[in-house]
Amino acid sequence: MKTAIVGGGAAGFFCAVNLKERCPEMEVTIFERSTKVLSKVEVSGGGRCNCTNSFRDVGDLSTVYPRGHRLMKRLFKVFGPHDAYEWWERHGVRLVTQDDQCVFPASQDSHTIIDCLMHECRRHGVEICTGRKIESLDELAGYDNVVITTGGGDSPLLEGHRGEPPVPSLFTFRIDDEALHDLMGTVVENAHVQLPGTKLRASGPLLITHWGMSGPAILRLSSYGARLLADNGYRMSLSVNWTGTGEADAADCLERDSCVPLVASGKPSDQKLTRNTLGALMEREGRKQLPNVRPFDLPSRLWDYLLQKGLQGRAHAPWGSLNKKELNRLVNVLTNDQYQIAGRAPFKDEFVTCGGVALSAVNPATLESRTHPGLYFAGEVLDIDGVTGGFNFQAAWTTAYVVAQAIADSPRGREDKNE
Ligand SMILES: Cc1cc2nc3c(=O)[nH]c(=O)nc-3n(C[C@H](O)[C@H](O)[C@H](O)COP(=O)(O)OP(=O)(O)OC[C@H]3O[C@@H](n4cnc5c(N)ncnc54)[C@H](O)[C@@H]3O)c2cc1C
Repeated sequence: MKTAIVGGGAAGFFCAVNLKERCPEMEVTIFERSTKVLSKVEVSGGGRCNCTNSFRDVGDLSTVYPRGHRLMKRLFKVFGPHDAYEWWERHGVRLVTQDDQCVFPASQDSHTIIDCLMHECRRHGVEICTGRKIESLDELAGYDNVVITTGGGDSPLLEGHRGEPPVPSLFTFRIDDEALHDLMGTVVENAHVQLPGTKLRASGPLLITHWGMSGPAILRLSSYGARLLADNGYRMSLSVNWTGTGEADAADCLERDSCVPLVASGKPSDQKLTRNTLGALMEREGRKQLPNVRPFDLPSRLWDYLLQKGLQGRAHAPWGSLNKKELNRLVNVLTNDQYQIAGRAPFKDEFVTCGGVALSAVNPATLESRTHPGLYFAGEVLDIDGVTGGFNFQAAWTTAYVVAQAIADSPRGREDKNE
């Protein structure tokens, strides 16, 4: 039996190796349009390749796979993060799990992953054809199975399987506010960000940059809101709660119609907590000037900026002199600080595409096309994408493994098995 794999990236190579491990007699060929294979693996994770995640801190898969979490849950029963960890170690790649639960090769070098995949392909006799762009499935008429692993973006090969059009995910927000830009380099460890009028909210470190906002909280929100933001031309309101008192992340309303409009963040509970904290400071530190006592451990430059924004001319008043209206304004600027997103700026370390092959177009157990027997999809080409943290490679390993298993277990595949 002959299998063609279109796309020499993470999913294509992982599928090839797993296929040959199960079916040594099968002819497996990878077609890669560029002259170099595995190029994203090489640059991933800043050259270190964040190849999976322990998932220890993941309660709900929808918070790490805004699209495709239900399918991933099912496929993890076949090949999950622990299986991937074990697979790499069994193939000679020692891994380490960081405190933030991201998993990297112990070598801290993405070439360890590339060398392993290349070595396994050579050992098993996988044919690798570089500089060969496949434009149509007709070119592969001689193959029994075709696996499409062409990554994000559109391709004529997806004909009849396309779902939502591809749009970028994992980007930072451009915010045209010079006073904010002056705070460049400021980090707030636990900010809560929300797209007002939607359920979409994310939390975590937030970094102020010279173009706007970045950091894990913003990247997560860009992923949760990837389609909505695209639909709105990347111009939407953003609400920031700087106090660390916001609610847990919520991502699973990407099916646009199910987004329930909410009042912008700064929920009564956050506001009450903040008001209590500020009220206690007014009593305890009444004689001190506002800039000299920082609530919530806020960085001093940010606190000065928020005081200006909330109180203007009264930003240097003593704590004890705040009247009710001023206190309310301060609570509001701390828990529901409003900005206008003016566009997107790419995140240098990771970037994925949301959209691609509709999950309804494939058999969820095998990832085989429902309409074209023998045609399979794996990796980013599927409408599955994750937030940063190793979740995207995990999706590539899992889906590639499932396809390899499905082909090997097909009636013709069984003939090529070493049994
Ligand atoms: C800078 C960067 C850093 C990243 N870091 C991480 C990270 O640390 N952790 C993580 O989990 N994820 C990371 N990602 C995301 C991760 O790289 C992708 O999710 C993953 O590479 C998807 O694998 P894939 O094999 O599906 O697609 P790809 O890696 O994109 O591979 C697809 C391949 O198919 C080829 N191709 C396309 N069309 C054709 C055609 N018609 N004919 C032949 N060949 C074709 C392409 O040239 C490409 O080589 C990062 C992404 C970027 C851009």
